[in-house]
Amino acid sequence: MYDIIIAGAGPGGLSAAMYAARAGKNVVVIAESIGGTASCAHNIENFSGHISISGLELTQIMHKQCERLKVNFIISTMVKMELKGNIKLITLIDGRIISAHCVILAMGATCRTLGLKEEVVLMGHGLSYCAMCDGSFYKNCNVIVNGGGNTALDSALFLASLAKTVTLIHRNQSFRAAKILTDRLKDSGVKLVLDSVITNLKGAPLNFVEIKNVVSGVISEIQTDALFVAIGIIPNTGLVKSEILLDENSKILTDAFMRTNIENVYAIGDIRNTPLRQIMTACADGAIASEHASKQFKM
Ligand code: NAP
Repeated sequence: MYDIIIAGAGPGGLSAAMYAARAGKNVVVIAESIGGTASCAHNIENFSGHISISGLELTQIMHKQCERLKVNFIISTMVKMELKGNIKLITLIDGRIISAHCVILAMGATCRTLGLKEEVVLMGHGLSYCAMCDGSFYKNCNVIVNGGGNTALDSALFLASLAKTVTLIHRNQSFRAAKILTDRLKDSGVKLVLDSVITNLKGAPLNFVEIKNVVSGVISEIQTDALFVAIGIIPNTGLVKSEILLDENSKILTDAFMRTNIENVYAIGDIRNTPLRQIMTACADGAIASEHASKQFKM
């Protein structure tokens, strides 16, 4: 029986664990791996205190900080959550049930897929959702990135440093990404294919991407060795959606202390209806939730 279970080990979860451990709580972090989607970011320049650091390095430091504070880690898949009672229960894939007085939901989000049937078979065979993880397999190759947000531009800029050619396909003319990234894109050599969506993936391993121009309707193909999909994220609320109040985008509704509608259940980072999805804000959420949980009730 723990004081606090932190479900998820991205920057938010690791920060929450650090605060809870420093408050003297018996805390366990449960996650399939350490780092979350943040560990895919190749170059983080907007985390205060670091001029430039990779997501992997940053989350490894956070993990070490937790280990120094004797935070417990369980690397496993959570298959069931029972959150309404005074004792919160989380069932793991191996049947173990972990219990605590309080749960902080920090399961983050999963990369959105294109929704094409070929995606499943091509995963790892020319198709990836993480340029930082898989980019080095495509040195001096022709690669495509799809998307127009910070992840897509960060990925395209990273790949431009190692691939032979990088083509960025985006469904409209304007980018959601920060201006500093769109400015960098101009001098990066990345070729832009705008107003276009991917309609088919061909070859196994992947060697052609079929695209449709959404303005003209024209369909064409681009030869490629790899496609990196970066078209947004979907909150991982599957395990809690029957108990926890969500907004219209399936994000968990919280108050300023990160409290959900269930007593002693908090939500932090990309899984909640945050106005800004950043590593900085996920860490701040974690600190606020843990501090509140640690002070509000005796464990
Ligand atoms: P995002 O900001 O939601 O951008 C998703 C992009 O994919 C948008 O350009 C969107 O196009 C496009 N898109 C969405 N669905 C699509 C579909 N079905 N087909 C084709 N294109 C589609 O997602 P993200 O870039 O993954 O970023 C996620 C969050 O993490 C954001 O809040 C972001 O700011 C944050 N983040 C921050 C940093 C950083 O600060 N360094 C780095 C990475 C991520 P439209 O624009 O047309 O909708």
